[in-house]
Amino acid sequence: MATNPGPQPTSGRAGSRLSRVLQVFLFCTAFLGANFTLSPPAQAYTHLCGSFYGISGNDPISYRYYSITNTYYNAFNGAQGRWDATSAPGYFRYEKNNSDPSVEVHDGSYAWGDWARATWQGCTFGYWAYDEVKISFNSRTMSGLTAREKKIVAEHELGHAYGLNHVSLTCSNPGPAVMRQGTGKFGCGGDGPWYDDVQGVKAKY
Ligand SMILES: [Zn+2]
Repeated sequence: MATNPGPQPTSGRAGSRLSRVLQVFLFCTAFLGANFTLSPPAQAYTHLCGSFYGISGNDPISYRYYSITNTYYNAFNGAQGRWDATSAPGYFRYEKNNSDPSVEVHDGSYAWGDWARATWQGCTFGYWAYDEVKISFNSRTMSGLTAREKKIVAEHELGHAYGLNHVSLTCSNPGPAVMRQGTGKFGCGGDGPWYDDVQGVKAKY
């Protein structure tokens, strides 16, 4: 019986395997710990009173153009595609025959000074009344913007439609956001929506 070497080497190998696993685990913990101090950036998103009802995962959010020229069709179409490419819940779906879509899209030459507006008829229990938002692009005030800038403005309005309010973030720290007002976001690089925008939508839904 004393010549049987079985149990000792076996437990020895198991022991060294365990300590190797432990070392790897400690290394990973230290690595993650160091990583957390560098990123992600702080979140600054703020919310409006409403959101779309019943949207999660990959649910469709219907939209329809009511009066639109090619310029703003391109801006909006690009913007909805950019939002769809993020991990924000839901996706925007064009429904040309829907008599009551969640998002109505218009453009026109309006007297008001904004580039664009997202409007709604109120909020009921935290959801848009009638599950509906109207987005209007002002061709008069937006005429000097590039095609890319118009698309980012459209991303901003879709952020409102999701239920996001304005933020004031710089490009570098804590990071860019389409929900920032004005021209500053145009120089941030990339086309948005950015981290803070997506986190804001996820927090809302
Ligand atoms: Zn706005």
